[in-house]
Amino acid sequence: MKTQIVSIGKEDTFALTEQKLLQAGEIIKQGGLVAFPTETVYGLGGDALNPESSKKIYAAKGRPSDNPLIIHIAELADLDKIVEEIPKKAQLLAQAFWPGPLTIILKKAKVVPSQTTGGLDTVAVRMPSHPIASRFIKYAGGYVAAPSANRSGKPSPTMAKYVIQDLDGRIDMILDAEGVEIGLESTIVDLTTDVPMIVRPGYITQEALACVVGEIDIDITIYDDHSTQAPKAPGMKYRHYAPKGELVLVEGERERVICYINEQIRFHRERKERTGILGTEELLARCSADSIKSAGKENELSFVAKQLYTFLREFDDEEIDYMYAECFSDKGLGQAVMNRLLKAAGHKVVKV
Ligand code: AMP
Ligand code: MG
Repeated sequence: MKTQIVSIGKEDTFALTEQKLLQAGEIIKQGGLVAFPTETVYGLGGDALNPESSKKIYAAKGRPSDNPLIIHIAELADLDKIVEEIPKKAQLLAQAFWPGPLTIILKKAKVVPSQTTGGLDTVAVRMPSHPIASRFIKYAGGYVAAPSANRSGKPSPTMAKYVIQDLDGRIDMILDAEGVEIGLESTIVDLTTDVPMIVRPGYITQEALACVVGEIDIDITIYDDHSTQAPKAPGMKYRHYAPKGELVLVEGERERVICYINEQIRFHRERKERTGILGTEELLARCSADSIKSAGKENELSFVAKQLYTFLREFDDEEIDYMYAECFSDKGLGQAVMNRLLKAAGHKVVKV
């Protein structure tokens, strides 16, 4: 299949952009697939109400079909049709955080095919704030099922070039535009239980959610590889974002972390293995490796969030065999950053 790559730039007139989005929307209505930018990461969109489109999404990504898709909408009024009911807490969260990087899980209405929800009787819904995403969704008929636009197991793409790397020849169109600012996938909150539960941490923090709905739980399985409990979000059981080399997280007091990483790098160098480090500038000033990724200064968590997937892809491109990353705070946005890093590292953490 020939994939059309359509760039939308600031120099495009409103009318020209509309024309491009109209064409992209038409592809979705005809049962095709279009990758599009959102404020979190690029999504791989298909008609959420067409079971054949959902099957195509799974095939293009190489994703197991029991891993449900998120439905993207452009208007709050469109939520009604795809869910059985909208509880008060869902209304409050939507009012507070939509459009934005929050996904809510509710009981699904019959109109949503089970292929889109991985066989579940619940549905995950999000209203993105990226202006291109929202106009595209309208032209596509209002309901776009979209997982991240990467091949299964690869980091979510934050730039069109990574979507092209993964999906060129497998989908109908890729929309390339700026504005993918957050870099990590949305926060997902399950609202089908009495106390809402975070099943995937993201840019919208537990603290921010609690301000709106009061008590809120977090699914403990997201931090623990050895839990016997099944995760509440089915997709979380799959190993994600894994770089080709071995990534190890190092936790402990700064001096000891530096000492440990330098020792390991010396060891790998003797064996002619290529090494990488991901850490704050304070750490990088005292360590060296074949590839260095700066997480900025201490406490710049939104910078790490935005760069993380790019760093992981670059480590692969640079054929790094062993990577060491500093552990960041697991408070606020750190919850999401550490969740993704732990998954990328296959939960390998060395405490020094
Ligand atoms: P992605 O689109 O790649 O960001 O992944 C979407 C994720 O949303 C899935 O992997 C699930 O973890 C989660 N999800 C989607 N729908 C549901 C649902 N109905 N119930 C629980 N989790 C869901
Ligand atoms: Mg994904």
